[in-house]
Amino acid sequence: MLRVVVLGAAAGGGVPQWNCGCPVCRQARSEHPELRSTQASIAVSADGDHWFLINASPDLRQQLIATPQLYPRSGKLRHSPIAGVILTNGEIDAVAGLLSMREGSPFTIYAHPKVLAILGDNSIFNVLNEKNVRRQPIDIDQTFEPALPDGSPSGIEILPFAVAGKSAWYLEGKPHPAGATGVGDTLGLRIGDRTTAKFFYFLAACAEVTDDLKSRLAGAPLIFFDGTVWRDDELITAGLGTKTGQGMGHIAMSGERGAIESLAGLDIGRKIFLHINNSNPALLGDSAERRIAERAGWQIPADGTEIML
Ligand SMILES: [Zn+2]
Repeated sequence: MLRVVVLGAAAGGGVPQWNCGCPVCRQARSEHPELRSTQASIAVSADGDHWFLINASPDLRQQLIATPQLYPRSGKLRHSPIAGVILTNGEIDAVAGLLSMREGSPFTIYAHPKVLAILGDNSIFNVLNEKNVRRQPIDIDQTFEPALPDGSPSGIEILPFAVAGKSAWYLEGKPHPAGATGVGDTLGLRIGDRTTAKFFYFLAACAEVTDDLKSRLAGAPLIFFDGTVWRDDELITAGLGTKTGQGMGHIAMSGERGAIESLAGLDIGRKIFLHINNSNPALLGDSAERRIAERAGWQIPADGTEIML
């Protein structure tokens, strides 16, 4: 059985974001603490004992405190059930949490060479001693099975695939350490259980739903999908920023080419938005946007939500 815990559902900055006075962040600080959400990441396990993180958010320490499944086993002086971290991109909100895992426990980082090149190019990540923390390249369209610390198979089968997206924001206008060409900056994952053949998809960033992606996701029992913005220009119209969703490599929830419309009618069992920016009005439980999303069968998850399949 696959167990999935939503460690965080928010986009970069979280909810509330430290310097933000938008309506969602204001309400999250005061009368609606249930709006609070940490930056996007999930944990996955096939055996309930060993877990893999999909991305390591800057809120990782807080997420681990809130998640008993990820506590060190009792009776062990040093231990973590986290056997590995799979990175789907090189954004701060996907990789910065690695720095909170620097206390000498062994685990493996799985990432595309383009993202591994970013880690390799930033000496601060050398704090993760390669004797303990292996860096394992993964390839697009090549299924892999992450290993447990003793080298035995985890029972989890992961297929990374290329998704329309952008390089990490902090690399904009700068040379990419892996070179300018080629895909690999943004991955989607198909995550399956070898024993039961149950599976789900994870796409924390996606700039466009192509026909290829539609046929891939059609009929899936569960997807986690990029829910960064409601409207492409919402940061600009709210006076919060100068970038569009597309400019950041993220599709909008609404609109003709948005996620809700594009993924309608694909017979997907359960649709969950993830990586939701605090500017997104669908976060508000009583908003018209939330009603539209829910009527289309989408869920906005609370941190800590556990799903078994
Ligand atoms: Zn805000």
